[in-house]
Amino acid sequence: MNQAAFLAALRKIFPEHRLLTTPAALAAYESDGLTAFQARPLAVVIPETQGEVIQAVKACYQFGVPFVARGSGTSLSGGALPVKEGIVLALNRLNRILKLDPQQRIAVVEPGVVNIEITKAAAPYGLLYAPDPSSQPICTIGGNVAFNSGGAHCLKYGMTSNHVLGLKVVLPDGELAELGSDSLESVDADYVGLFGGSEGLFGIALEITVRLLPKPETYRTLLAAYRSLEAAGDAVSSVIASGLLPGALEIMDNLSIQAAEAAVKPGYPLDAAALLIVELEGERAQVEAEWARLKEVIDASQPYLVKIARDDEERMRIWKGRKSAFSAVGRLSPDYIVQDGVVPRRRLGEALAEIEKLSAKWGIRVANVFHAGDGNLHPLIMFDGREPGALQRAEGLASEIIDLCIQLGGSITGEHGVGIEKRQYMPRQFSKTDMDAMWALRKAIDPLELANRGKVFPGSEAPALHQVGAHPLERAGVISRE
Ligand SMILES: Cc1cc2nc3c(=O)[nH]c(=O)nc-3n(C[C@H](O)[C@H](O)[C@H](O)COP(=O)(O)OP(=O)(O)OC[C@H]3O[C@@H](n4cnc5c(N)ncnc54)[C@H](O)[C@@H]3O)c2cc1C
Repeated sequence: MNQAAFLAALRKIFPEHRLLTTPAALAAYESDGLTAFQARPLAVVIPETQGEVIQAVKACYQFGVPFVARGSGTSLSGGALPVKEGIVLALNRLNRILKLDPQQRIAVVEPGVVNIEITKAAAPYGLLYAPDPSSQPICTIGGNVAFNSGGAHCLKYGMTSNHVLGLKVVLPDGELAELGSDSLESVDADYVGLFGGSEGLFGIALEITVRLLPKPETYRTLLAAYRSLEAAGDAVSSVIASGLLPGALEIMDNLSIQAAEAAVKPGYPLDAAALLIVELEGERAQVEAEWARLKEVIDASQPYLVKIARDDEERMRIWKGRKSAFSAVGRLSPDYIVQDGVVPRRRLGEALAEIEKLSAKWGIRVANVFHAGDGNLHPLIMFDGREPGALQRAEGLASEIIDLCIQLGGSITGEHGVGIEKRQYMPRQFSKTDMDAMWALRKAIDPLELANRGKVFPGSEAPALHQVGAHPLERAGVISRE
């Protein structure tokens, strides 16, 4: 590849301040939320129009340069990690809501729109956008589509893929494709389904048509505290077995309770081994009927304490604790890996007990805070990157947790994608035939492997793991996690 000629081609598309090439400017894009992997791209481009994205992808195709789409870089699996010789397309400035049609209950948005902005725009019409990752105030809808992201309310409403009706995408050779439509029924094969969750390997989403739902009329939220994590896990199975479908069913263990309490003081019982948060939502009459049944089921699961949110303020406090738990764990440990395995819901209690044993075996603390209703575990594996070998040991424990999920009939990822982090686990979950079929599809759409090269499939050269520790600005006393 002629780098000089390629950069000259990019200069024709982007003004100087939106084509970054200096080491200082590139530093911010060297990793995403999985900071253990870092790679410096050749350049970062910051398009402001869909036309600029298309031209940049065409230039990549012409010169054979790999490219990575980046939303807000909150991926926890290294999905937005740059390719060393490639470019990053930072899409945050494509952040327009192009259409909001309350009658049809749809919105058409650009990929850089932040998830929560759709709900804010829809609120005056009594509508919302349902998938709500805990990173909702920062992650983009483009990243959500690529990872088929979930969130606390996906138990009832489904993941991102259940809310995307249509996509306009630029394929890896620069061609445009319109997938699906703005209608609930579509005549074609499910190409939207194919693109959703494809982790940027099939091109870049430029426009996304999403469904909007009516805002629930009312919510009822409770906190149940248990003496063991397994009991909380079993309570989830009982709620589901009862036929109820709560809006959210979340578990936090003692370490994450302590962290959340220290960070945002939601009033959680500090002596609980585990907390279960259950929220019902919908029409008032239905919620009230289900509430009575829910309380019976929760009482039968023998919590030692049940706290009921009396008003919106108390409800928001409960959620604030849950939603801040990931970042709050930063108070307990300088570094941690967030795992994203899934187990069948009925095996949650068993899985949590095994994770406790593995944590003791490795002598590594593991905090658990997760979307229990989906069986989606998020063990936070804590380590101190300044200690030699600590990251590798944390990875060893993470790998055993993944094996556990597969053994229990679950999956290596729930909502955070495979990215770079979990690609070596793919053959543990999928047979050679499955892997070959996925690879054939990738090659059919992107024969040059330009789009997000090196992700999802094992085998290609992996970037080196880096020891992580305090951020240089933290060490200098400029920023702090307090
Ligand atoms: C504190 C915290 C909490 C989180 N909680 C959740 C949670 O509850 N549920 C959940 O699902 N995730 C969660 N995540 C993970 C992350 O926020 C989501 O995966 C999110 O969808 C990533 O969005 P992003 O805009 O940051 O994407 P990025 O990290 O920038 O990119 C993610 C992937 O999408 C690709 N991509 C980005 N834009 C496009 C596009 N327009 N077209 C094609 N591919 C594209 C990238 O190449 C990459 O592979 C959490 C992360 C953090 C840090």
